[in-house]
Amino acid sequence: MEQARNQIDITTRLLNWYNINKRDLPWRESTDPYRIWLSEVILQQTRIIQGWDYYLRFTDRFPDVQSLAKAEEEEVLKLWQGLGYYTRARNLHAAAKQIMSQFKGVFPSEYSDILSLKGVGTYTAAAISSIAFNAPYAVIDGNVNRVITRLFAVKDPIDTAAGKKNISEIAHALLPYGQSGKYNQAIMDFGSLVCTPVGPKCADCPLQVNCRAFEEKNVFTYPVTRRKPVVRKRYFSYFHIIQGNKTFLQKRNADDIWRNLYEFPLIETPEAIDFPEISQTENFLHLFPNNMKLSVDHFLTLKHQLTHQTIHATFYRVEIEEGIAFNQPQKFTCIDRNNLADYPVSRLIDKYLEKIR
Ligand code: SF4
Repeated sequence: MEQARNQIDITTRLLNWYNINKRDLPWRESTDPYRIWLSEVILQQTRIIQGWDYYLRFTDRFPDVQSLAKAEEEEVLKLWQGLGYYTRARNLHAAAKQIMSQFKGVFPSEYSDILSLKGVGTYTAAAISSIAFNAPYAVIDGNVNRVITRLFAVKDPIDTAAGKKNISEIAHALLPYGQSGKYNQAIMDFGSLVCTPVGPKCADCPLQVNCRAFEEKNVFTYPVTRRKPVVRKRYFSYFHIIQGNKTFLQKRNADDIWRNLYEFPLIETPEAIDFPEISQTENFLHLFPNNMKLSVDHFLTLKHQLTHQTIHATFYRVEIEEGIAFNQPQKFTCIDRNNLADYPVSRLIDKYLEKIR
């Protein structure tokens, strides 16, 4: 009984806080499931300020699921450029086609149908179901995990089955009848603005009286996790080849990061390697045979962080005189140097292009 009263009190305080502090965001003007889906996918691993423009550009170019489904994948990737995690864009495109073929072009309203869309996980399905259809599904992400584990002093690690089940039960118990969309947005905003990972605003927090972690003076213990993610280090040497007005790109198509995006010819090595060493490798000699006259500048070194990978990239600018037959394997696309911006590339290549501009 006491626990139920506490839960109702938390929900009421959260909704009251949200009424006053709600962020004015363009996707909140709509309950169109297509737009909510788009905003949720754009905002995964992206800050709101960065995602805002992309959302406006996407809804301008693809105002509905039909227009997105009809587009070429390359156009979708190009529009996505700079946001990173390109699998999201590919999945958006595939799911739009799925809606056309499986749901006659109408965005599904059932949670299980929404969850069946390519790339849609439980978080996104709960967000769309609750915000567009007011269905009783609680969103659970990093923000919600943090707020709930602090409020209820949850000791189970959030990356275990027991921990996840516990959080899900609490999150669903907090959902107010008929206002699940509003509640989900409230807890997301609260986690981003008040109960933040570093420097939570406990002194002004409207939930302070309900917060067990605050009472224990132990706020930073939560959320508890079991293991640290393993981050893989990778070493890329890129060759920005210039031959007159031409340069060369390759399309990534292996089952790896940045699939279907373009990049400069690349040699990946298991460890950091300098130019004298790399110029003796078989891959380099295949690309640039011994007798080929080259002018090579070590141009730039960039470190690029992905969720589970750190990429250490070195860019070389290689000039080859016009007329010399370049050992260009079939997989390279020869393009006009001035047209580089027409090709969808990873954020890493984009950073390099920004630097040389
Ligand atoms: Fe989060 Fe602090 Fe509020 Fe507790 S008191 S909910 S830790 S901001």
